[in-house]
Amino acid sequence: MSDSERKEERHRKAMQKQKAKVDANIERADEERGVAVLLTGNGKGKSSSAFGMVMRALGYGHKVGVVQFIKGQQLSGEEIYLRDQCPQVDFHQMGTGFTWNTQDRSGDIAAAERTWAIARPMLSDPSYDLVVLDELTYMLAYDYLDADEVISALVNRPESQSVVVTGRGGGSALQEAMDTVSEVKDVKHAFRAGIKARAGVDY
Ligand code: ATP
Ligand code: MG
Repeated sequence: MSDSERKEERHRKAMQKQKAKVDANIERADEERGVAVLLTGNGKGKSSSAFGMVMRALGYGHKVGVVQFIKGQQLSGEEIYLRDQCPQVDFHQMGTGFTWNTQDRSGDIAAAERTWAIARPMLSDPSYDLVVLDELTYMLAYDYLDADEVISALVNRPESQSVVVTGRGGGSALQEAMDTVSEVKDVKHAFRAGIKARAGVDY
């Protein structure tokens, strides 16, 4: 057997093993229901991942609701696209309330509650296949919303519904309640090298 044949054989065996593992895992995952996903951590990629799932869901004609718990200083590409091109998506943004600049706690709380009053009914409406609650974690971190109420609404949503929560932190009770938790790690970010936030990449 030549060197390259040996390599070929080793690769084939490794792939066989891998396939057996994957097949066993697929076999084991026999529960069919919506999933609760938390995208957290300090790195870039939380909201954009959530909007990637919006695109996936729309590909299957699923019904999607999106509620953003922070009012951006500027429009984002996802907001422009969803508002203009996807009228079937229920898109809501926290109105004039919470931004990093308001420094007005009671105004922020009122805005958080108004926005939760839009999100909450989505979490009990089985017609929604996917609900995205972008930047929700900050509302819990600042105690603007009652964490027990939010977590209970997330956990008790309709069985067929998936929900995606994004934002840094969020606490261990939230993590516990979710099915999938991913922490995006900040290795480096262009902004710290003096590169301006870029349309289509950062917003
Ligand atoms: P994205 O929307 O790009 O997926 P994100 O949702 O993970 O980012 P947020 O904390 O919501 O992160 O911040 C959104 C904006 O802040 C984006 O423009 C993003 O590029 C920028 N940003 C995210 N993480 C960092 C970081 N670690 N340092 C500097 N800027 C960041
Ligand atoms: Mg975000």
